Amino acid sequence: MRIRRAMEPAQPPSDSLTIHTSTLFDSKSKRFLPNLSLTISTKTGLITKVHTREEHALPNHNLTSPGTVLDLRGLTILPGLVDAHTHIFLHPYSETSSLHQMRDESLVERVVRATNHVKAALLAGYTTYRDLGTEGLRDADANFRDTINRGLIPGPRMFVATECIASSGGYETRLENTGPGGATAPRISDPADGVYGVRAAVRRRLCAGADVVKFYADYRKRALRFPSGGWPGVRNPNVLLFTQEEMDAMVDEAHRSGAPIAAHAQSPEAVVMAANAGVDTLEHGHLPSEEALEAMKKNGTIFVPTLSVFDVSLPGGDEGTRRARKAILGHTKAAFDKGIKIAAGGDTGAFAHGDNAKEVELLVEAGIPVEDVLQAATLHGWEACGGDRCGRRFGYLAEGWAADIVAFEGDLTRDLGVLRRPVFVMKDGKVYKGDLEDSA
Ligand SMILES: [Zn+2]
Repeated sequence: MRIRRAMEPAQPPSDSLTIHTSTLFDSKSKRFLPNLSLTISTKTGLITKVHTREEHALPNHNLTSPGTVLDLRGLTILPGLVDAHTHIFLHPYSETSSLHQMRDESLVERVVRATNHVKAALLAGYTTYRDLGTEGLRDADANFRDTINRGLIPGPRMFVATECIASSGGYETRLENTGPGGATAPRISDPADGVYGVRAAVRRRLCAGADVVKFYADYRKRALRFPSGGWPGVRNPNVLLFTQEEMDAMVDEAHRSGAPIAAHAQSPEAVVMAANAGVDTLEHGHLPSEEALEAMKKNGTIFVPTLSVFDVSLPGGDEGTRRARKAILGHTKAAFDKGIKIAAGGDTGAFAHGDNAKEVELLVEAGIPVEDVLQAATLHGWEACGGDRCGRRFGYLAEGWAADIVAFEGDLTRDLGVLRRPVFVMKDGKVYKGDLEDSA
């Protein structure tokens, strides 16, 4: 579909743009609203006004003063999508394992790949990324974020974690076999121990440019003792990496500094500890547990179940895999039914950037209503990034919020496949995708 743009060359250059819509998703009420027009400041990238048009009144572009009008009627409009768990420096594990990416790919290669990744994501309608760890590139995500913010490359608005915090020996490339020549594996976390040590680590991360702090509450760290496939039926177990006091201290330190904090946790025990510590978001947490859900509910934790990464890591279609997959989806649905707030984040990078909609599809497959999933992929994404601590509002289309707008042809509630085909993408009032047609 061609999107009509009415230009009036005689008018003085304008900072304001009006967008007419006929089906716009309200991510707070979870309803599609008709006949709304938005006015946008292209200077600030914010929405300055939203008003309802008379039902049958066609907008007269000559009367819409001043300047430029975009007619998005006939399309389904969503706030720009938010992927709440990404890794821009990773590409699909099906191409190269993360270990080999971290160890063998150069800084330059990984940055060039990331440049392609963020462009693909933006054109897929994802205007915000919460990027949770560089996986071996230290603080390069903060610098990368800044290149997007300075307009050097197109990409989503980024909130980054720099390195994740783990206890000593908790999250690192395994070194048991390191020879006398010394380690060649890159550092993949900022190690810290003890309540003072972990506070210092939070301060280091924020100083390095982190918008959000991330720590590993647990990890399957005994990879060499339990090699995958080595001992059939024996799994590399999750090991708790911090004490309750250490987790409490990290959360306190992040919050004192006005930063949100996220925890990687897989075992129910780690989920409970991280939730009780007061983390803003809980990543993964896939093992079915009523106690884990209770803790998240009680503490108002946002749950980011990262269904996509589990989906790509469950190989084959055998009975065991099917059962594991069903259990993960069922646990996510149980969290939703309990009233736990869910944000959509795929652990994107483990699979291709640009395929971010996969997480939305899996949340719907889990049995969560489409409208709630769209809220998880927009407004709840903003909350996962820190809400008002972000310094910008996005994920909802109203006055004072960012003009992040994505448009689709078709009805998302009937055909979710539509989500894979955005025809228009705007971030901060700037159009990145759209077959715009000039007319007088
Ligand atoms: Zn991740």
